[in-house]
Amino acid sequence: MTKPIGPLCNLDCKYCFYLEKENLYPQTSDWRMPDDVLESYIRQYIEAQNAEVISFAWQGGEPTLLGVDYFRKVVELEKRYANGKRIKNAFQTNGILLDDRWGEFLAENRFLVGLSIDGPEELHDRYRVDKGGQPTFARVMRGLGYLKKHGVEFNTLTVVERHNSQHPLEVYRFLKEVGSGFLQFIPIVERVATRSGADGLILISPASTQPAKVSTWSVEPRQYGKFLCAIFDEWIRHDVGRVYVQLFDVALETWLGLKASLCVFRETCGSAMAMEHNGDLYSCDHFVYRENKLGNIMEKPLESLVRSAQQVKFGLNKRDTLPRYCRECDVRFACHGECPKHRFIRTPDGEEGLNYLCAGYKLFFHHIDPYMRFMAGELLEHRPPANVMAWIREQEKAQQLPGRNDPCPCGSGLKYKKCCGHSV
Ligand code: SF4
Ligand code: SF4
Repeated sequence: MTKPIGPLCNLDCKYCFYLEKENLYPQTSDWRMPDDVLESYIRQYIEAQNAEVISFAWQGGEPTLLGVDYFRKVVELEKRYANGKRIKNAFQTNGILLDDRWGEFLAENRFLVGLSIDGPEELHDRYRVDKGGQPTFARVMRGLGYLKKHGVEFNTLTVVERHNSQHPLEVYRFLKEVGSGFLQFIPIVERVATRSGADGLILISPASTQPAKVSTWSVEPRQYGKFLCAIFDEWIRHDVGRVYVQLFDVALETWLGLKASLCVFRETCGSAMAMEHNGDLYSCDHFVYRENKLGNIMEKPLESLVRSAQQVKFGLNKRDTLPRYCRECDVRFACHGECPKHRFIRTPDGEEGLNYLCAGYKLFFHHIDPYMRFMAGELLEHRPPANVMAWIREQEKAQQLPGRNDPCPCGSGLKYKKCCGHSV
């Protein structure tokens, strides 16, 4: 994930964990990634990957603050160094600055846009406000209008926090209504230290021993599970094959025995590094802390930083530090203890390192198990998993039938087996 304007943003979302990363660069006044760093990064990133398709992910902060011309330069550099490889670009934005110019550029260059939106107006505006504390929903919807007008491919990214987690169907139906065919849900969990550390950060890493409390905006574990279950129940009955919910598709991958395509549900970490504006590379977007800095690509080749012992250890730690409670868990194959950033509670037997969201994930993964088994079975038989919707209807119909010796619901006074149930 590339942050060509560092943590700088035109909004002040109350739950954002990235805004305070400005404190890591106290001397910086110009946050634009300089031309030489940008060029070196694009060249090294393409050269380092032995793949036909190279995917860049631009985010921030808010990348639209750099203006369209900056990204024209990005595309030029990508073409210059592509060397026969196909380049894809993903672009995460809050949507506020989108206009016709952006729409034309994004469509013309086939950028896949991720739009941050947390649900209908009253839910979205609770935390997503601008620097003056003003709501942003109307401006985001205007931005979305430009994406649609120019036919830009987009998906939505919804932060699941303490408040909107209590309104799962409102959120889900709203996102469908506005035309999102690909929904990403990201749980927000942060711990706030009573005092900021030497690095100026107050939202602390899981390894920190500073006194801290879970923030008031963090989603509650069981509520997160209920949120996912409620959306799943609606999706599995009506929308399979029509609406893509990233988390459900990733779960299906794991039920099929495949490696999850989302890092949080993989056994190990290590492939979601964050590139800051000045060329500093961090182990992960969720671990932009001083101790997780791998180095700077203007001083050491990107590839050597990616393959460094520090990064390999970071990746394997996810698996190697799993508490016994997780290792023995029946849904470990789907969860793998989720993101290490959220592992700061103790297991029931007192071991450290359990994921704060564990109770929610247990609830969710157990809830979806029969449906996932069915869909995985269909896929293995080369049939569409969307058959699950008809299967559920049949199951539910069968459950509604009266017992053979029950009075017949037609009111004849006969037993069901002697009346309408005779042919059944
Ligand atoms: S730390 Fe979390 S976000 Fe980062 S790679 Fe690991 S699972 Fe993914
Ligand atoms: S559901 Fe809980 S116990 Fe099971 S792997 Fe996930 S975090 Fe660990």
